[in-house]
Amino acid sequence: MASMRTVPHSRPTIDQKDIDRVLMCLRSGQVSMGPGVQGFEAAFAAKFQLGGAAAVSSGTAALHLALLALGVGEGHEVIIPTYVCTALSNAVHYAGARPVLVDVGYEDGNMAPLAVRRKLSRKTRAIIVPHMFGEPADLAALRDLGVPLIEDCAQAVGARYAGKPVGTFGQVSVFSFYATKMMTTGEGGMVVSQDKKVLRRVRDLLSYDHKPECRVRFNYKMSDIQASFGLAQLQRLEKFVARRRSMARYYNERLKGVPCVLPANSVVTEPVYYRYVVKVRGCAAKVIAAMQKQGVQCERPVFRPLHVYHRIKGFPVADQLMKDSVSLPLYPGLTAREAEKVVHALRRVLT
Ligand SMILES: *Cc1c(COP(=O)(O)O)cnc(C)c1O
Repeated sequence: MASMRTVPHSRPTIDQKDIDRVLMCLRSGQVSMGPGVQGFEAAFAAKFQLGGAAAVSSGTAALHLALLALGVGEGHEVIIPTYVCTALSNAVHYAGARPVLVDVGYEDGNMAPLAVRRKLSRKTRAIIVPHMFGEPADLAALRDLGVPLIEDCAQAVGARYAGKPVGTFGQVSVFSFYATKMMTTGEGGMVVSQDKKVLRRVRDLLSYDHKPECRVRFNYKMSDIQASFGLAQLQRLEKFVARRRSMARYYNERLKGVPCVLPANSVVTEPVYYRYVVKVRGCAAKVIAAMQKQGVQCERPVFRPLHVYHRIKGFPVADQLMKDSVSLPLYPGLTAREAEKVVHALRRVLT
């Protein structure tokens, strides 16, 4: 039976604790950046052993400031994967630099270190490394390239690589708290670094008032309203991650024998399953449309690789991933009945 309403592809996880915290903030009258933001930054940095953290208005703003704090600007190149959202190339352009695209690995959709090596030049000033779908990238190989790394942990809060939290490997790292990310503040982001100088630059640039001299700065501040929401979310992050992992195990188990490729299991990483991506040779678009008819909203996990927007060739793996990849609904608020519906729908569509 085509029961219930459509299962959405993603959904924020909000409960009474979030509501209580935000109401408390509103009642206090302190709603702009203040002690709430400081508290959130400190709690976030402590949880992941991150040195220091600066909260900002979005993940994109975090990327922009991370680039500026590393001295990236006009005449420089920044290496980014093509199989990613446009936020990365936008941030590089904001900084006045040129994004240089590289292909990714087929298994996990993460940046391929060998492809990066081929694109290094005298102008390369940084590499932005996203951990796609919550699966940490090959940080050891990328670090060996000797170029400053910006870890983009927007999809990977809580994930670990070689036993250590992601965000501790880059010269500077960024997070996003958009509505449907691992944890949310509605919109929001974080810049973290062990380097005090980098962090000081970020803090200086994110707000414009009460400065000793006039130079171009930004209004990228987070508000205490968002920070109070974020603190409530942070306190439940382990639960969110545990729930995502248990759902991934459920899909792994129940989708055995269905003709599609399930996410690979890595031995060096502890992924958080921001996305659960299955591969269906060449028919992602058809499968997504058929799933919709079954009452399940699936998505391409990357809407369109950057090189496709720019009509450039030479990224065969990302091209293949675009044709093959289907992201199934997976988030802490997904009910057991909904997950069962996803499994049944995919079986029906693929067999
Ligand atoms: C969501 C996301 C961003 C952008 O974050 P916003 O908060 O939406 O600006 C950047 N990089 C990656 C990998 C993302 O998933």
